[in-house]
Amino acid sequence: MAVSGSKCRSCKEPAVIDLPRHNANFCAEHLLQLCRRQVTKAIEDYSMFSPDDRILVAVSGGKDSLAVWDMLVEAGYEADGFYVGLGIGDYSDESGRFVHAFAEERGLTLLSTDLRSDFGYDIPTAARASKRVPCSVCGLSKRHLFDKAAIDGGYDVVVTGHNLDDEAAVLLGNVLHWDVDYLARQLPVLEARDGFPRKAKPLVRLTERETAAWCVIRGIDYLVEECPIAAGNRHLHHKDVLNAIEKESPSTKSAFYNNFIENMAPLLAEHGSVSSGDLQHCTRCGAPTSGEVCAFCRLVATASPHEPVPVELVLGRRGRR
Ligand code: SF4
Ligand SMILES: [Zn+2]
Ligand SMILES: [Zn+2]
Repeated sequence: MAVSGSKCRSCKEPAVIDLPRHNANFCAEHLLQLCRRQVTKAIEDYSMFSPDDRILVAVSGGKDSLAVWDMLVEAGYEADGFYVGLGIGDYSDESGRFVHAFAEERGLTLLSTDLRSDFGYDIPTAARASKRVPCSVCGLSKRHLFDKAAIDGGYDVVVTGHNLDDEAAVLLGNVLHWDVDYLARQLPVLEARDGFPRKAKPLVRLTERETAAWCVIRGIDYLVEECPIAAGNRHLHHKDVLNAIEKESPSTKSAFYNNFIENMAPLLAEHGSVSSGDLQHCTRCGAPTSGEVCAFCRLVATASPHEPVPVELVLGRRGRR
């Protein structure tokens, strides 16, 4: 990570990272300070939560979710973790180990659930049984379980580790399709409504390179490998496109995302605030739903009787994230 011969912008000591978008190099301590500043700014500018709020951090074992959990705890917030075992082969086994080790080493509270042992299915099997792409059933399962864990546990907000690269790539995908429904909800914070908890993304002002540097400097072991189902999907392709633009023109990525949030998102606010209709309680699990039984419980009913499917059999079916 060292940048040979260059000096930190703040203290003139040897730098460990160059950040072209800030047109500067930083030593370890000042890189941490930059990360803290950007996260504090995101939390305050978007009114994500206050020091009294109880926070549930959705953790996957990757750098971003462990970094945001670490940052919030370091800043004095009451933040517990929540991990969902997705049953995606070795990837899930490994990710679970990283999450549990992180929590144990720091004495943090980690809640967890496992799709196979608690609900009788895993992501590859659910994809095959429901004839949907894996990321679609995975997203549905995680959203439902994060929401339920937050509501049941009395948490004020669910935090995820989405960073600037993630959000800019999703924004590019949404713009390429002019998907107004998704654009209207692509905000750094979504207020609680209709029985769903508030959701916040404190890392939207940090790139994945910066969160990786945070983890290295802070001694956080994280799972470097991506989910095998992600390989080659459109989300990663959009990240590559934006990285190519950023290389030629540093800070374009943050301008693309931040200007959307500042200038375009307010114009879409009315669209995003349209109520999701008359919601009632799912007759099986009690979650808010427009029908009698929620989409998660319907997925459980479809997937759990199915014979387990190995992850290799669904690797060709990725779809949009
Ligand atoms: S890439 Fe798709 S299947 Fe893998 S964890 Fe992400 S959403 Fe789930
Ligand atoms: Zn310095
Ligand atoms: Zn339900």
